[in-house]
Amino acid sequence: MPEAYTKIDHTYDVVVVGAGGAGLRATLELARAGLKTACISKVFPTRSHTVAAQGGISAALGNMGEDDWRWHMYDTVKGSDWLGDQDAIEYMTKEAIPAIIELEHYGVPFSRTEAGKIYQRPFGGMTTDYGKGTAQRTCAAADRTGHAILHTLYQQSLRNHAEFFIEYYGLDLIMEDGECRGVVAWNLDDGTIHRFRAHRVILATGGYGRVYFSCTSAHTCTGDGNAMVLRAGLPLQDMEFVQFHPTGIYGAGCLITEGARGEGGYLTNAEGERFMERYAPTAKDLASRDVVSRSMTMEINEGRGVGANKDHIHLHLEHLDPEVLHQRLPGISESAKIFAGVDVTKEPIPVLPTCHYNMGGIPTNYNGEVLTVKDGDPNTVVPGLMAIGEAACVSVHGANRLGSNSLLDLVVFGRAAGKRCAETLKPGESHRPLPSDADEMSLSRLDHFRNAKGETPTAAHRLDMQKVMQTHAAVFRTGEILAEGNKKLEDVWARRKDISVSDRSMIWNSDLMETLEYDNLIYQAVATMDSAAAREESRGAHAREDFPDRDDEKWMKHSVVWVDENGKARLDSRPVHMQPLTNDVQTFPPKARVY
Ligand SMILES: Cc1cc2nc3c(=O)[nH]c(=O)nc-3n(C[C@H](O)[C@H](O)[C@H](O)COP(=O)(O)OP(=O)(O)OC[C@H]3O[C@@H](n4cnc5c(N)ncnc54)[C@H](O)[C@@H]3O)c2cc1C
Repeated sequence: MPEAYTKIDHTYDVVVVGAGGAGLRATLELARAGLKTACISKVFPTRSHTVAAQGGISAALGNMGEDDWRWHMYDTVKGSDWLGDQDAIEYMTKEAIPAIIELEHYGVPFSRTEAGKIYQRPFGGMTTDYGKGTAQRTCAAADRTGHAILHTLYQQSLRNHAEFFIEYYGLDLIMEDGECRGVVAWNLDDGTIHRFRAHRVILATGGYGRVYFSCTSAHTCTGDGNAMVLRAGLPLQDMEFVQFHPTGIYGAGCLITEGARGEGGYLTNAEGERFMERYAPTAKDLASRDVVSRSMTMEINEGRGVGANKDHIHLHLEHLDPEVLHQRLPGISESAKIFAGVDVTKEPIPVLPTCHYNMGGIPTNYNGEVLTVKDGDPNTVVPGLMAIGEAACVSVHGANRLGSNSLLDLVVFGRAAGKRCAETLKPGESHRPLPSDADEMSLSRLDHFRNAKGETPTAAHRLDMQKVMQTHAAVFRTGEILAEGNKKLEDVWARRKDISVSDRSMIWNSDLMETLEYDNLIYQAVATMDSAAAREESRGAHAREDFPDRDDEKWMKHSVVWVDENGKARLDSRPVHMQPLTNDVQTFPPKARVY
């Protein structure tokens, strides 16, 4: 039996876990609909990773040239390498337009054109006329778009009386006979345990970038919601699809924009060779992200990495005019100084291909309702449970996400989930009592780790897992590398018995919280590795050297994966939705990949 904790019970119409762009957009919609809504977040809402998004948010507004949401839909389907669900993509690209206008009206301080319209910039993969021209589709608030959106949504949610539980750590879902009845959370500040009973729980817990050694996302991106879903015996989807950026700062992971190479920067290996000339003789250092990331990894794997452990690559900017660096890349120069201790005018920046985005997550339909595969039905809705944002796999990004489509995904599906609740719930509907063992699973797990008396601190376990993932499940994948990764991950999993937690208190016990986060991460590591090993083709971000072609016959399907408490994965699949939602648009049948 778990130790006696001070418990506090709450009842809400809806509980949202996560206060990033997705969670806040849903919270706002729910509060506006008059539903009693609680939003739980382990960090202060405006510190969620969404705050770091710079580039912008896409919508075919046509403010800076002709545009059409059908072109945006086509680009997104193509970018997804035909793994995206076309009904959801139609919904997102069409709803993008009112969703952005709403953001504008809520007060997001978008940059403006001369005529006073929302400013839109071009972004990779965004085209006009089904691939013929370049679209200017990405709405921006300078280089702080995520920051602007997050602050506006938080203010609007407060204005509409949403209730926030800040610095509360969501432990687990309360499930009863396959239905989600609520969520259990730990108040980090005073150590109390809170049971939230709700008609709907919306998971908006973000990505799990921290499963890799190098990632651009915040330390908080540990995919807690994804792991709650696995522990509830439900599956995740398309976990093998992880987007990497070639130049994250070694160790810290902070992003060094492609602009650095655009200005003339280049990469070298331990021999000082500009190796990109060998891999991509024409585009060289400006080849596509996937190609550069894979080439860097091959250099490291073949022993030509730089540094004491020969595990990274150098990015040179020191040959550029210091004035150019100062004017065009001031942010990068500062990041390199702070996070790598490097003066870019004098020495190279240590860099590594870095995890940037998780396409996989909790399977949902375009209303945000969580799906599972049950009795042969791949679209079985899990009652009471919804998911949105990077935690979810709707799936609009399929095998690869286009830049500026994630912020869009947050606001469109955050809004959709809120609307779905408003359609299906009445404010103040009565609740059944929670089952008597509602919090038993969460508290047993909490107790287990709180009293863990092993030899090795969590940070060491986490580093082992991150190194295995970085070496075996990053951009360079073969059956052999993945199989070896699987074995190493089994060893790391087995060593969980040896975890040591030194702080036993319940108040601001970051040692314990990081241990729970690590436990969440390793479930997702297994899901990613196993799904990647199974998919014997190359599609989007999943590139297998031993299966270089896309295989639509065998693999045009979503991978679905369960991971049990022994770290064993079970795989299944769901069909890709090739049919759009309405007759406003045609199906886009798969086309060959062009590089
Ligand atoms: C550096 C960087 C730049 C990017 N730039 C762009 C861009 O320009 N355009 C674009 O479209 N996309 C961009 N992306 C991607 C995009 O920003 C993210 O995918 C998106 O912000 C994720 O939002 P989210 O709401 O799903 O989750 P997050 O913003 O990560 O928020 C997660 C929330 O869940 C809460 N939470 C998590 N676990 C728990 C728990 N156990 N208990 C309680 N609360 C919990 C957290 O406190 C937080 O509030 C970028 C990403 C990065 C990392």
